[in-house]
Amino acid sequence: MPTETKTTCPYCGVGCGVIAKIDDNGSVSVRGDPDHPANFGRLCSKGSALAETIDLDGRVLYPKIAGERADWDEALDLVAARFSQAIAEHGPDSVAFYVSGQCLTEDYYVANKLMKGFIGSANIDTNSRLCMASSVAGHRRAFGSDTVPGTYEDLDQADLIVLVGSNLAWCHPVLNQRIHAARQSRPNLKIVTIDPRRSVSADTADMHLMIRSDGDVALFNGLLAHLSTSPAFNRAYVAAHTTGFQGALAAAQGLTVLDVVQETGLTVGELLAFYRLFETSERVVTCYSQGVNQSSTGTDKVNAIINCHLATGRIGRPGMGPFSLTGQPNAMGGREVGGLANMLAAHMDIEDEAARDRVGRFWRAPAMAAKPGLKAVDMFEAVADGRIKALWIMATNPVVSMPDADRVRKAIRDCPFVVVSDIEENTDTAALAHVLLPATGWGEKDGTVTNSERRISRQRAFLPAPGEAMPDWWQMAEVARRMGFSEAFRYDRPAEIFAEHAALSGFENNGDRDFDIGAKADIGPDAFDAMPPFQWPHQRGTLEGTTRFFAEGGFYTPDRKARFIAVRPQRDDRTSIEAPFLLNTGRIRDQWHTMTRTGKSARLSSHLAEPFVEINPDDASDLGIAKAGLVTLDNAFGSVTLRALITERQPKGSVFAPMHWSGQNAANARVDALMAPRIDPISGQPALKNVGVRMGPAKMISHGFAVAAVRPERLDAAYWAAAKTENGWRVEFGFDTSIGDIEAWCRHTFSLPDRSDHLAYTDNQSRQQRHGFFEGDRLLLAFYVAPEPVSVSRDWAVGQLGLSLATPAARLAILASRPGAGQLDPGATVCSCFGIGVNQIAAAVTAGDCTVEAVGIRTNAGTNCGSCRTEIRGIIDAFHQQAAE
Ligand code: SF4
Repeated sequence: MPTETKTTCPYCGVGCGVIAKIDDNGSVSVRGDPDHPANFGRLCSKGSALAETIDLDGRVLYPKIAGERADWDEALDLVAARFSQAIAEHGPDSVAFYVSGQCLTEDYYVANKLMKGFIGSANIDTNSRLCMASSVAGHRRAFGSDTVPGTYEDLDQADLIVLVGSNLAWCHPVLNQRIHAARQSRPNLKIVTIDPRRSVSADTADMHLMIRSDGDVALFNGLLAHLSTSPAFNRAYVAAHTTGFQGALAAAQGLTVLDVVQETGLTVGELLAFYRLFETSERVVTCYSQGVNQSSTGTDKVNAIINCHLATGRIGRPGMGPFSLTGQPNAMGGREVGGLANMLAAHMDIEDEAARDRVGRFWRAPAMAAKPGLKAVDMFEAVADGRIKALWIMATNPVVSMPDADRVRKAIRDCPFVVVSDIEENTDTAALAHVLLPATGWGEKDGTVTNSERRISRQRAFLPAPGEAMPDWWQMAEVARRMGFSEAFRYDRPAEIFAEHAALSGFENNGDRDFDIGAKADIGPDAFDAMPPFQWPHQRGTLEGTTRFFAEGGFYTPDRKARFIAVRPQRDDRTSIEAPFLLNTGRIRDQWHTMTRTGKSARLSSHLAEPFVEINPDDASDLGIAKAGLVTLDNAFGSVTLRALITERQPKGSVFAPMHWSGQNAANARVDALMAPRIDPISGQPALKNVGVRMGPAKMISHGFAVAAVRPERLDAAYWAAAKTENGWRVEFGFDTSIGDIEAWCRHTFSLPDRSDHLAYTDNQSRQQRHGFFEGDRLLLAFYVAPEPVSVSRDWAVGQLGLSLATPAARLAILASRPGAGQLDPGATVCSCFGIGVNQIAAAVTAGDCTVEAVGIRTNAGTNCGSCRTEIRGIIDAFHQQAAE
């Protein structure tokens, strides 16, 4: 009998519910959970492809010490001994944990308890520091607590949604779908995007403010000044529930309109249009994400936004409020247990002596940390300068994702003792581990996560743990026992940890702390198994219900009033004569983090298969960068080589590159290697969207493209980028030296059997050489090499793998590098759910389909997860524009 398990998507902070089904033959499929309040059955392309990412290829299946298989006891004894030794010799601050928003709340709780209550240091920080620490700091400054006031229902009910630094269509696609569904039923709903580049989200917005990088404080200060003299100003709310308004207003009024124009790069007309729209829309939600947080002024930006909502009293009521959208599936859970180095547990403040005492008594902790620990950037600095002697990295890949990533790699490599717990063996960070511990992954783990709207959902296991993989909480608890803390870490199952976490949240909580799920403190294993998604708070003795905060004040400051924060714009121009282009980074639609999981899906990899950089056409022309050429970006911190994507979406003088590619899937594309380790001084969050770089064409003497049945073992080229396909791999190459005998090079690089047939052809006009290697009727390798970037239809070539190519004509088509008569080249993938390419969509439009729905009926494109609907709309619009010209 097929079995079905309700669980939660492990990617972004939307926290969609999914149903995982195992059929009788063992195959797994995943669909949206229609009952989950975050998504009501919707999924995006990443969520839809979850079943394609759970194979055991590349999994860590047993503990390893120095690269050799070890048993659990041996590995755990060693970890406990080395941490204990470092603490004994150098003190508790000589050790550190670097954890992750991928950890479940129960994992996080145990790690935090061990470090802050028993080791006696607060050196535990999380990769969530890289995505939303500024929101935490902004919330705490304004509200006295890290509280997200609203819920996703507010997006359904708003009249105006402002997206600040948020490419919602690609980074939180199901919320984007939800907003567009609301707009269909209420066409008056307006959407404004505020973003320095024209992202896909801007395509469907009513207004796009192409703001200068880091111009947000000026923009919202101007809005505050505007609102203060408008009917939207809520004098009664401000008087009853806030303090500091005059100071914030004075700071805002310190800017003239011309100052705001200069700081934001927007016109007076654009500013006034936005300010009037905000003023006249009572129900307004301002969503913000990494474009706000990942900045050296991120916390000020958050407070500039919150100031406007406080001034209008538009907070905590249906359809209104500031809304921080978290990047990771459990960034919020990490915040709840105190996974940040400057927090304690259950949203308590580590700098509050009474809170430390309370938590210490609850845990019966022998060594409560007395001060905040090292935040991520400072932590790796301490690793680099030798203060940290033992480091445990869990479920994250800092060698790729940290700023100044090359220095971080060196720091980890030189650290005396490094433990990595992960599911994947082949990551840039796992390669540096002294001890590698096999963790359970999505589908095997059991516990809870909290999404952006404070909704706690179960992640349930539906697959057995492979090999000797064990949950992160178990690993931590075992090490804690070996360090002499048996009694406090005697957990047998996640339900016990969750119950303890819930009990701590309600412990001595008389309504003066926002995070309280004390109603779950007595939960047993069965109730935990069955626990449906719920929003916090849920205090003991109360009923669950949809909750919003602060409509009637009740903030978590000593006087229960919110604080307006006086913020002033600070120009942070990181460009220079040596590095004149401003590099912005972000995510793409179909990949997640460093691609350790989404990179396993051929479908997801087909959307954008190469690391790229978006460049304005004028800049490309000035620098002699050709369309689809290779480009080098460099600065004092590092260099990368990426494919040029020349587009009007990118303003002149700046470039955009995604942060996903690592050393596992590209030669030199870790864009965070270029990022300065520069942080917001309040939140400690790195400014990952603003660094100066130099740019120029990467000089290659030849370029190559290959489709291969197996991944090449030896990739020896100045540039390469490999992506999984349905039946093999596709690899792009750039060569800065001659590759000599091409047949020999191919056989060596792709480990081809000697017996494979070889066909070759040279096109004298393009000087392109084309090689095909076959075994029986199967293509093993097609390799195209030319002095210029190879012009072969990638999607067609990829489609040849796995086909029967028995006839001479079929083999010759490989050498001709184009489809035979009667075959359609699908073109670059637009809809990854159904594998529909741009040429297929263009054909539908040519045939008369002029709506996204009509294209969907003919081709299926956009009819599943809907993540590509904006791109389909763009193809239709481009066709009609061309026809009109
Ligand atoms: Fe997963 Fe997509 Fe939902 Fe995010 S929006 S939780 S990635 S299905």
